[in-house]
Amino acid sequence: MIEFIGVKKEYNHDVVALNDVNLKIEKGEFAFLVGPSGSGKSTFLKLMIKEEEPTSGKILIDGKDIGKLKNKDIPFLRRKIGFVFQDFRLLYDRDVYENISFALRVIECSEREIQAKVKSALEMVGLSGKEKYYPNQLSGGEQQRVALARALVTKPPIIIADEPTGNLDPTTAGEIFKTLLEINSRGTTILVVTHAKDVVNSLAKRVITLDHGKVVTDEQKGGYKV
Ligand code: ADP
Repeated sequence: MIEFIGVKKEYNHDVVALNDVNLKIEKGEFAFLVGPSGSGKSTFLKLMIKEEEPTSGKILIDGKDIGKLKNKDIPFLRRKIGFVFQDFRLLYDRDVYENISFALRVIECSEREIQAKVKSALEMVGLSGKEKYYPNQLSGGEQQRVALARALVTKPPIIIADEPTGNLDPTTAGEIFKTLLEINSRGTTILVVTHAKDVVNSLAKRVITLDHGKVVTDEQKGGYKV
């Protein structure tokens, strides 16, 4: 589902952010991407959605070499990947329904379809019936659940979460990870960048560790060794 082949990324011809990265994340996998600050995690995510281009090497998403995509095809690539951020990035002047339905309007779903899809996305994240709430009427954990519902409502094959629990207390963070695992159990490939050491160690999932732009460990049932 996600494959990096000999990927190198340099910024300004002197900063090497990623260096000879080779890895494959299969359809349906759940993987953590960890590493110290500056190790290349954000660069890895940006390359996946063509926000940055590799200096050399090849990236396949869903079997397609994204280096060959034309500009007009980039929105289709981005629709394959649902993003969840540390700071939620909700629209604070829109209610939950509008926040989640936004991506469906872009792909021109009917209002009836939108209603059904928003309802089922909210069920999935444990927020049934909260359609009319505004983000600031919800707790941080609930806001992150809205962001999760927004990411999954279009049923992308991949969800990427960049420090999704960085702003949340440990109990709430644990619940968000539980929901991510449930989404994964329904077939979505999930990649999570996190510093939540205890969660990484307790879940015993695949852990890919970057350091200075290189994959230093890649273990099934791995731990957090940064
Ligand atoms: P992480 O997400 O693990 O903190 P990054 O991918 O953000 O790591 O950064 C990897 C390296 O690339 C760092 O040395 C960082 O300073 C550098 N870097 C990241 N983005 C840019 C940029 N736009 N221009 C120049 N250097 C950058």
